Amino acid sequence: MARRIYLDYAAATPLDGRVLEAMYPYFTEEFYNPSAAYLAGKRVHAVVEAARVQVAAVLGVRASEILFTAGGTEANNLAIHGVMSAHPGKNMLVGSIEHESVLALAHQFGAREVPVTSEGIVDVVRLAKLIDDETVLVCVQYANNEVGTIQPLKEIAAVLSRVRDERRQCGNSLPILFHTDATQAANYLDLHVSRLGVDLMTLNGGKLYGPKQTGVLYIRAGLELCPLVYGGGQERALRSGTENVPGIIGFAKSMALAQEIRHEESQRLQQLRDVFIDLLTEKLPEAKVNGSLKKRLPNNVHITLPGQDNERVLMALDEAGIMAAAGSACAASNEEPSYVLRAMGISEAEAQSSLRFTMGRSTTEEDIQATVDTLARVIA
Ligand code: PLP
Repeated sequence: MARRIYLDYAAATPLDGRVLEAMYPYFTEEFYNPSAAYLAGKRVHAVVEAARVQVAAVLGVRASEILFTAGGTEANNLAIHGVMSAHPGKNMLVGSIEHESVLALAHQFGAREVPVTSEGIVDVVRLAKLIDDETVLVCVQYANNEVGTIQPLKEIAAVLSRVRDERRQCGNSLPILFHTDATQAANYLDLHVSRLGVDLMTLNGGKLYGPKQTGVLYIRAGLELCPLVYGGGQERALRSGTENVPGIIGFAKSMALAQEIRHEESQRLQQLRDVFIDLLTEKLPEAKVNGSLKKRLPNNVHITLPGQDNERVLMALDEAGIMAAAGSACAASNEEPSYVLRAMGISEAEAQSSLRFTMGRSTTEEDIQATVDTLARVIA
């Protein structure tokens, strides 16, 4: 059988062998509880804290501002629940193309949605107009999981900074906090918090060639948050439970490895992405690429093939050994057309003719050529 081609790195990344190696001792001989009083427990505690320092260094923050979670969904939930429950009666804004783990909980808190342009970029002017004196939280992702568009975080941070100044002048002491979900961005983009201007940031090990169900929420020092999980008081009592030590070690290692190759890998994938789009233009001229080409993750190609049923095309690709996605594969499968594409003004019919290809460390130019050739064959 021919080599299988995996083009769904936005849904899951394989665990890097070096990450597994780093994790292994903490499943076996170093299994101790980091809260234990004896030396072995203290040794494990020190390793967890060293991992925290390592992650903090990438973000340019203090280790005490890093909270380990069980994945991206939990980190997003902690950010929103934490801030909104600490400020009852206040309101929040949310980007209309956020991941469900942000959007679903934001809706529970009555969030108003900030629209995006037809290019899949949050409309900052509309966002500024939606802020009122009671707005305490704004959630806008760093990069979109479906169309790969990169959001204008710095511009949004500048708007929020102006709001803070105005509030100070009017004696309004309510904070306005900025949370970003950097799940899809972390392999490719700058994560330095002070350059981005965010107060809370989600990271996800399962998309970083690390273990699934591992993640981080960066929480700027001094922020008031309510706990998400109550219990023994671990992780500053914001999400109690015995630490997932191998997971934490694996997360920190995967993040360090991703940082080492970030620039090189971004460049390589961007070139592959351009080859992919050029080949599509040549062999499938009816294909339309969705989302901004300029403000886009290097590994994302998202297309509409007018008149084609994406589920049928995906199955035909799978039979040919190619794994891709329609919409967001990280959500449990549903029949609804993608709300991300709909928010960009793409029709229901077009949304159901759309496919997502996300590349990663194993992707080669031959893979891309084979994919476009197969695509041309299966839709002919
Ligand atoms: N945020 C984004 C942007 C995602 O793409 C995903 C998963 O695909 C998540 C959050 C949720 O991550 P997890 O399912 O690992 O908790």
